[in-house]
Amino acid sequence: MTFEIQNLSVRDLADRFGTPLYLYDGDVLAGQYQGLRARLHGDVEIFYSMKANPNVAVCQLLHRLGARAEVSSMVELVTAQRAGVPADEIMFLGPGKSEEELAACARGEAGLFVAESFGELDRYDAMVAEAGGHGRTLIRVNPAFSVKGAGLTMGGKARQFGIDEDQLMRSGPAAERWPHLRIAGVQAYMGTRILQEAAVVADTTQIMAMAERITAALGCALDVVDVGGGLGIAYFEGERDLDVDVLAAGLNPVVDDFRRRHPHTRVLMELGRYLTAPAGTYVVRVRYVKDSHGEPFAVADGGTNHHMAAVGIGSFVKRNFPVALLSRDAADDNRPWNISGPLCTPNDLLVKRAVLPALRPGDLLGIGRSGAYGPSASPGLFLSHGFPAEVLVLDGVAHLVRRRDAVADLIQTQFVIDLEGRTGDSGERRHQGAGAGAGAGAAGR
Ligand SMILES: *Cc1c(COP(=O)(O)O)cnc(C)c1O
Repeated sequence: MTFEIQNLSVRDLADRFGTPLYLYDGDVLAGQYQGLRARLHGDVEIFYSMKANPNVAVCQLLHRLGARAEVSSMVELVTAQRAGVPADEIMFLGPGKSEEELAACARGEAGLFVAESFGELDRYDAMVAEAGGHGRTLIRVNPAFSVKGAGLTMGGKARQFGIDEDQLMRSGPAAERWPHLRIAGVQAYMGTRILQEAAVVADTTQIMAMAERITAALGCALDVVDVGGGLGIAYFEGERDLDVDVLAAGLNPVVDDFRRRHPHTRVLMELGRYLTAPAGTYVVRVRYVKDSHGEPFAVADGGTNHHMAAVGIGSFVKRNFPVALLSRDAADDNRPWNISGPLCTPNDLLVKRAVLPALRPGDLLGIGRSGAYGPSASPGLFLSHGFPAEVLVLDGVAHLVRRRDAVADLIQTQFVIDLEGRTGDSGERRHQGAGAGAGAGAAGR
């Protein structure tokens, strides 16, 4: 982490946009995508998993570079559309899609539809029979195998995602069961935060073989295979980033092999964290410093309410994300600092015992590698602080890409009730009276 992003000082950006603040470096974002794109087999289509960072401008930039979009909710779909992603480059996936979301897929708003259960396939088939639609469907599979090396593994165990491989193998011809759908291939996602190149290669090899098995058993087409992704980023001491050259050297021959057997099958990969994590810094300002039982604490204006991921992922021992003092030069004082936020819970510790310079009120601290699973994966409404501003620096210019929640933003969706019962008024009626129709409130913002 440095004091500057593309020659703009973090201090000036914090003064201009306020803190707490997420800063995204467009150069790093682009570098991450292009570095992979340049090395990965040219036939592999890269989809950006929007849940990692659903900001419309992040999606816009990745799309301009060539990424497609993988979405899992109506608002993510609308975000991708606003970012300029055409329908045939949008994939809709997720275990609990609503009727509204299924209908949008059937209408063709998402060119690729991924079904995650027999119930959903039945429902989608009935919907397409009734209302028409393209009916093109990938089936998400919960593989019988698992691959080691992921922060969170998916295959080989009970999961709410996809359909168990052995159930699909026994389910009979797809065309008989879902006559209005065109089952066009399979999707599988083996886990997240994979930092071993060989694990990604092994995953992909096994998913491709599984796709062949399953489509043969279902008697359906293999137009598309989505091999998931889950490429990781090093956060903690002792971890190292994936080597994309090594990854490509292992992966590209596997893709070549598959393409020789299936020259017309599209090969897809979906990535969230890998593309966005290194580009983001969470910037907080120290409000108070204090000591407790001999340990120094810096109480900052933002904490886990905006950055839940920083409390440590899948580990009993608290491990720190990279952290640095960004507002002035100072030497480490060799005291291990705790950095907490504004929440009234002892868990609101962004950083535990990290050696930093002696901190003072007003200092700016940066939590690095924070561009993925930041605000959107955090309890932003806890203690009603709301969500922070987000700024994307692109070609040396800072763009506000999400404004900070104001008090009014958080209050206006709640309704005081008439406890005396005099007017018979209800918040619900007032809400409808205000003309905020269902859906429009969420999607039209
Ligand atoms: C979360 C998720 C992704 C993105 O995962 P990353 O580890 O951030 O790349 C991709 N596909 C599916 C199905 C997911 O649930």
